[in-house]
Amino acid sequence: MTKLLVVATGNPGKLREMQAYLADSGWELTLKPGDLDVEETGETFAENACLKASEVAIATGNWAIADDSGLMVDVLNGSPGVYSARYGNTDTERISRLLRELGDTENRQAQFVCAVAVANPQGEIILQSEGICRGEILDTNRGEGGFGYDPIFYVPEKQLTFAEMSPELKKSISHRGNALKILVPQLLKLLR
Ligand code: IMP
Repeated sequence: MTKLLVVATGNPGKLREMQAYLADSGWELTLKPGDLDVEETGETFAENACLKASEVAIATGNWAIADDSGLMVDVLNGSPGVYSARYGNTDTERISRLLRELGDTENRQAQFVCAVAVANPQGEIILQSEGICRGEILDTNRGEGGFGYDPIFYVPEKQLTFAEMSPELKKSISHRGNALKILVPQLLKLLR
């Protein structure tokens, strides 16, 4: 039996990424209606993911999955955190602001975090997971791939920034990949 799972995002890229994890799973993924916007008023990634999954499930009457993610820099007490997308108007502005705030600070430790939540058609949260990826903030961009803060996020174990990695490598170690690795087997069990 196939069940519909609404992805609580307007971003077709996120839908494709989720589809890659849930291929042949029995869940049929679809984008949320374009006019349905949920305000991210939570103070944590998990709160925002739950809020989005729950509201989209209730509005559509289907199961829904949502994620919320961002970058947390240790010496900035976890900023930009849930404000990562709102830290500037463009990726370039967001990166410049972060580098300005870090200045020549020696401690460049940071982590990407991704929370994922699944709600049933009644809006109740049935599954939740969180993934992280630790790294360091460089002082200039490196690499052309990816999006957002990828060119300044360096992963020492791979000696590459996210922007220098192939999509497959990034997926295998990223915060989003780690969150979905935990969640997908649980999502498959729901169909049994
Ligand atoms: P979201 O779409 O509300 O989860 O916003 C996440 C924001 O955090 C994005 O706009 C990016 O600025 C940043 N972000 C999250 N994940 C990544 C990533 O994998 N690479 C680079 N930036 C990311």
